[in-house]
Amino acid sequence: MIEDKNTSKTPISELGEFGLINHLTKNLGIKQKTSDFGIGDDAAVLDFKNKKCVLTTDLLIEGVHFDLAYVPLKHLGYKAVMVNLSDVYAMNATASQITVSIAVSNRFPLEALEELYAGIETAAKIYNIDVVGGDTTSSTTGLIISITAIGHANKEDLVYRNGANENDLLVVTGDLGAAYMGLQILEREKQVFEVNPNSQPDLDQYTYLIERQLKPEARKDIPELLKALDVKPTSMIDISDGLSSEVIHLCTQSNVGVNLYEEKIPLDPAVISVCEEFKLNSTTVALNGGEDYELLFTIKQEDYPKIKANPNLTVIGHITDKKSGIGLVTRANEKIQLQAQGWNPIKE
Ligand code: ADP
Ligand code: MG
Repeated sequence: MIEDKNTSKTPISELGEFGLINHLTKNLGIKQKTSDFGIGDDAAVLDFKNKKCVLTTDLLIEGVHFDLAYVPLKHLGYKAVMVNLSDVYAMNATASQITVSIAVSNRFPLEALEELYAGIETAAKIYNIDVVGGDTTSSTTGLIISITAIGHANKEDLVYRNGANENDLLVVTGDLGAAYMGLQILEREKQVFEVNPNSQPDLDQYTYLIERQLKPEARKDIPELLKALDVKPTSMIDISDGLSSEVIHLCTQSNVGVNLYEEKIPLDPAVISVCEEFKLNSTTVALNGGEDYELLFTIKQEDYPKIKANPNLTVIGHITDKKSGIGLVTRANEKIQLQAQGWNPIKE
């Protein structure tokens, strides 16, 4: 598995609060022209001229959202950024800045925080965003990370959850369920390790699933792709809690129903084979797994020719009127009422 390579241990008390902030943030330069001023004053100064500004925030708590037994800190830093950028892209906006707030106990040496920031820095570099501020404080127990992402878009390009209309097509990016199965693999290995600390896991066949869990990528490419294809979605949401839950959000907020086709849900072959190994239903995993960080959106029927050849995009259903309900059409051609967790057959 991926190890944090830094093994020395400098107590953070040696640096003091300001020394620590300076140390962690010293390499974080400014590259966005919308960042007038970043770290170092009471507040950052941003200038979006005539654009709309989008802002989103997430809080990650050790023991609730991540387990440091198998999540390397560098990956945690990277993922914490992805989780937020994904929400910006789900507005069809461009992400440009983040702020990073952390609470740490003295259980974490400086080197651990360096690893966390190495992940944040890598994400900022690859996704072309500036870290323009944050807060650093102490915690009596675990690690807490809160990231706020800021982005911008032209008013007419913004896409909300509530714009889906009857007959629109429901489209998903990438494939689903892999991050959840990656988590199942990691949890299993953790239990094996607790019993036998000398066990040497062979996880090669699970690389894709573990990567999707530990190092997800936000779909920065999708707003760009849609623009290039001249497609503006009518509604959009990112898939963080599972396809089922996000479909319900889109439909409820748009006041419509949907027919979602089980056979169309994109699954990686690795998900299918590991679901067999774990005796799990791959459709249930894709619907309820979560942490995919793909985008789910609706488009007008007339835009279908523009997207149909694209391997990143799969049409998985179509929007119906509200009274037809939020339904999954199974392979056996039965319609099942979708639930945020699990499914219940519609009683007709
Ligand atoms: P204040 O007392 O105004 O909260 P701080 O001393 O906490 O200011 O922070 C000084 C500067 O360092 C500010 O620009 C702040 O945004 C930034 N900063 C503090 N902690 C972090 C962090 N963990 N990551 C990035 N920037 C940080
Ligand atoms: Mg502060």
